[in-house]
Amino acid sequence: MKFNPAQAIQDLRQFGEFGGVNPSITDSSTYTFLEGETMEETFLGQMEGCFLYSRHWNPSNKYLADALATMENTESAWITASGMAAITCALLQICNSGDHIITSVTTYGGTYAFLKNWLPKYNIEVSFVDITNLEQVKNAMQRNTKVIYTESVTNPLLQVSNIPELAEIAHSSGALLMVDNTFTPMIISPKTLGADIVVYSMTKFINGKNDCVAGAICGSHEFVDQLSNVNDGTAMLLGPVLDPLRSSSILKNLNTLHIRMKQHSKNAQFIAESFQKEGIKINYPGLKNHPQHELHKSLMNREYGFGGILSIDLKNLKSANNFMKKMQDAGVGYLAVSLGYFKTLFSCSGHSTSSEVPVEVQKEMGLSEGLVRFSVGLDSDIEDTFEKIKSCL
Ligand SMILES: *Cc1c(COP(=O)(O)O)cnc(C)c1O
Repeated sequence: MKFNPAQAIQDLRQFGEFGGVNPSITDSSTYTFLEGETMEETFLGQMEGCFLYSRHWNPSNKYLADALATMENTESAWITASGMAAITCALLQICNSGDHIITSVTTYGGTYAFLKNWLPKYNIEVSFVDITNLEQVKNAMQRNTKVIYTESVTNPLLQVSNIPELAEIAHSSGALLMVDNTFTPMIISPKTLGADIVVYSMTKFINGKNDCVAGAICGSHEFVDQLSNVNDGTAMLLGPVLDPLRSSSILKNLNTLHIRMKQHSKNAQFIAESFQKEGIKINYPGLKNHPQHELHKSLMNREYGFGGILSIDLKNLKSANNFMKKMQDAGVGYLAVSLGYFKTLFSCSGHSTSSEVPVEVQKEMGLSEGLVRFSVGLDSDIEDTFEKIKSCL
């Protein structure tokens, strides 16, 4: 039977201290021990179920981590205070000075900046490739390549990564495949397709409320043990711990993720098809004319659709800005960065979430300065929303 991420979460049973249907929130940074010996064993990571200090593990984050591991079908997971913390800690755990990373050139702007500007300072080499061109990926492999990094569906151009093929390329040389699945939780299950590590910005769809910033790393027991090792674990030593109060609210939101993803996808599909009928070019993986439509279909868990993100190219910045202002005034949604919110959000990628990418590189990868990215909301009357959008064009 095919893996079903929503059913996996549904089947998970987590209770509060007094039998509460929601796990209790652990409002403590430190924990008492009855004996000194137990403290030492806990410190060394040998005592399952014991907690020492909340930057290391805390029970609330452990519940959320267990739920995410269940959703991703990985052995384990780790919670971080942001998506960027998840990405940077995971990469720095794997790579040492002298190592090499291959990445999709189209990634989230912050990720791009980290790979481009930050890692070279520590002598970690990065090759930027067109991730849809597998020959280019193969040719970029070096003896010291430790990771191939990509996004399941890339930001903001919505290219779809061929996860099984990329995994094969990585594994054939002893490298790992790390996938940022922020755009497509439940829609794509990267681990079941061959990825080794799945990272998330939970700030987006997973939490879905835009009331906090958070991230996660899903992988093997061994990898999560490495991340949390007191001597050399990046998550432990760089210290981006999420507050337990927040992780508890994210856990509750995770339980409605499957319904939200279906509605985001349904609404986005409607908007995309309606634009297309009007003869307006739209970039959405759920349209047959999307270059990786068939690939997306072959990778996805069908019932969740093609996701809530689409983009439309207004060619120049001035038109894009006018369009977005009109849409905000007409009540389509908000002119704001971020995504996965219950209301529709739109922003001009080249001048916001991808502004870290130099203009020449934006041009090269096909990111026009007038590209408006939509995160389609949970609108109950999407036909009405489309009419509003159309009137603003
Ligand atoms: C937002 C985002 C990130 C960064 O996450 P934060 O929670 O803002 O740190 C990483 N990857 C993608 C695809 C994103 O959309």
